[in-house]
Amino acid sequence: MIEPVNKNTLTIAVSKGRIFKELLPMLNKAGIVPVDDPDTSRKLILETNQPGIRLIIIRAADVPTYVEYGAADVGITGKDVLLEHEGTELYEPLDLGIARCRLMLAEPVGAPRVSGRLRVATKYLNSTRKYFAARGIQVEIIKLYGSMELAPLLGLTDKIVDLVDTGNTLKANGLVAVDTICEISSRLIVNKAAMKMKKNMVKQLIDSFSAAITR
Ligand code: AMP
Repeated sequence: MIEPVNKNTLTIAVSKGRIFKELLPMLNKAGIVPVDDPDTSRKLILETNQPGIRLIIIRAADVPTYVEYGAADVGITGKDVLLEHEGTELYEPLDLGIARCRLMLAEPVGAPRVSGRLRVATKYLNSTRKYFAARGIQVEIIKLYGSMELAPLLGLTDKIVDLVDTGNTLKANGLVAVDTICEISSRLIVNKAAMKMKKNMVKQLIDSFSAAITR
């Protein structure tokens, strides 16, 4: 593990899009304001109004990796991502309650009962494997990186496992959710060494995020 070099700086890893949008008011309440607008800036390191605090903009799925290795001290990412991440070198002290959705099993409307081995398309291999293993159901999981909804429509799989918010994407593609696998929201994660060596800064961040959580 990389040891944090400077006790007085804090690097926060976050992804663009929905999580960032919902995180911004929480950051502002914590007194952290990015100098550049992440929506228009192409910079991957965003300085903030606080000299010691910077944001790095990366893919949501990469956030646990940066934090685990100490390249970022803390990060914000979805529980869906954390369930897929294999490492264990992370603290997860806070559910921020933002970017809420559900990881769901879905199938075409009126789909016939599957005879033989079930095929499921998903990006969420671990969660899907665990879900079916817990039910003793044999399943062939086909990894896709996006547009999962397409797979059953073209006969690639019988069902899909994907994130669902409003349900509009499922509906628009003739699919229906049949079970909730997990409730999802974004979590604050902290590097283990940073939790010790940057205790005060991390604690301040946890406290001000806690105060900004709307339940
Ligand atoms: P919806 O049509 O509102 O049910 O949204 C479903 C689509 O948005 C799917 O393609 C999901 O992968 C994506 N999605 C929904 N909620 C989230 C979230 N919290 N984080 C990331 N992607 C999401």
